[in-house]
Amino acid sequence: MTDPSSRRAPLDLPPNEFRALGHSLVDRIADFLATWPERPVTTGAAPSAIRERVGRRPLPQTGAPPDALLRDAATLLFDHSLHNGHPRFFGYITSSAAPIGMLADLLAASVNPNVGGYSLSPVATEIERQTVSWIAEMIGYAPGAGGILVSGGNMANFVCFLAARRARAGVDVRTAGIAAPESRRLRVYASEETHTWIQKAADLFGLGTDAIRWIPTDARLRMDVAALERRIDADASAGEKPMLVVGTAGSVGTGAVDPLDRIRDVCRERGLWFHADGAYGAFAAAVPEERERFRGLADADSVALDPHKWLYAPLEAGCALVRDPEALRDAFSYHPPYYRMDDVGGEPAMNFHEYGPQNSRGFRALKVWLALQQVGREGYVRMISDDIALTRRLFRAAEAEPEIETFTCDLSIATFRYAPADLGGGPEREAFLNELNEALATRLQDGGEAFVSNAMIDGKFALRACIVNFRTSAADVEVLPRIVARVGRETYAAMKAERRG
Ligand SMILES: *Cc1c(COP(=O)(O)O)cnc(C)c1O
Repeated sequence: MTDPSSRRAPLDLPPNEFRALGHSLVDRIADFLATWPERPVTTGAAPSAIRERVGRRPLPQTGAPPDALLRDAATLLFDHSLHNGHPRFFGYITSSAAPIGMLADLLAASVNPNVGGYSLSPVATEIERQTVSWIAEMIGYAPGAGGILVSGGNMANFVCFLAARRARAGVDVRTAGIAAPESRRLRVYASEETHTWIQKAADLFGLGTDAIRWIPTDARLRMDVAALERRIDADASAGEKPMLVVGTAGSVGTGAVDPLDRIRDVCRERGLWFHADGAYGAFAAAVPEERERFRGLADADSVALDPHKWLYAPLEAGCALVRDPEALRDAFSYHPPYYRMDDVGGEPAMNFHEYGPQNSRGFRALKVWLALQQVGREGYVRMISDDIALTRRLFRAAEAEPEIETFTCDLSIATFRYAPADLGGGPEREAFLNELNEALATRLQDGGEAFVSNAMIDGKFALRACIVNFRTSAADVEVLPRIVARVGRETYAAMKAERRG
């Protein structure tokens, strides 16, 4: 053992060394941000090539100088990542990260508060509380609502699901479990366009996926509310126990917004929990021109949102909101004897470990809190409206491209496919187009010029561009249909050659 009076731990960095390392890392990051548009979105390298680059070696037995480590790690990440901050990244729903969020994460880690208990994180707890309340205010959600930040949309939906289960199971589900006779027949209702979190929730929290009632959608892929009512009433007559209805506020596939006000009415009439999954779309409710389609969102018993989508927070940041803050405490609170945190200086204190599944918790709120102040409501409304306007522009440019067939354009998601002019109309057409567009999606993704993902629409394989990216410009969306058509022709030619050979 080293002499404790002169301890110099190997991990520690003297402040001046820390300062020099930090400055040079920030310089590298700034240079990297400046070169984005010239870089490929991704390299398309095979997993084995990336593994080789990371290097196959055993756990280091001794240390290495931190300046070289940071320099090499930065190069490794800059050169071999998929850059979701790239202006022509249109994949999935992954946003471009706000620079202030990058700095906020550094600051948060430096102070390292544990936001599970008030006494461990006095300022951070108050900042998280204010962040949650600003998020609620931004989408016009119930004043007096409560909530908590979690890792993402799935976790936010889970937290709301558990609050609903606790409130509406009809038994003390936390003590009796879901094996109690009354809770074995719990049923949840969601449209066929609902994100897969609902399967994970029904599975993980004991109801089983058979408890999900899949409600069909209309021509615009929104929940058919008449079908919902019929299904709930049929289940209730058969002795099942309807518990929860999920309305999606911006579907992951096409950006469809369910008729939230009508779902709310159905839930109110029957005493069911109304949950809105707004992981992608709910922040668009802050945009005056979009507000109408989110009518009813403000009345949901709970809402899940993703600041790491349309608030452009670096991963990870999700947010669960509940109309009645006590609903979270009812669902999650335990009081371990070794925690004495109920009041601080004679005032009641907020302990976030009682409002969600986590115990120790990081300081996710800082990056969201600072970004909300850097641009304000107005800044966000402008960026979200610009993303929506650019998506419409992209859709129109795709319509104007002769070999592109367009499908949907909702919120900031456009779907379309490549359909060569010389293709016959026979019965094989659809199967061939699916195969062609699937190959095209792979080729586009590996090519690095622009990144799109896909959606299945009515059995058709569609390319899907989603813009949650304040770095995307009009030029980027104008060029995308041309890239798709060009790479589409190459893919088509390659497929024809393969068939001939
Ligand atoms: C993204 C998304 C989710 C899942 O959120 P994660 O942050 O990926 O966990 C759930 N629902 C919808 C509608 C989404 O768009």
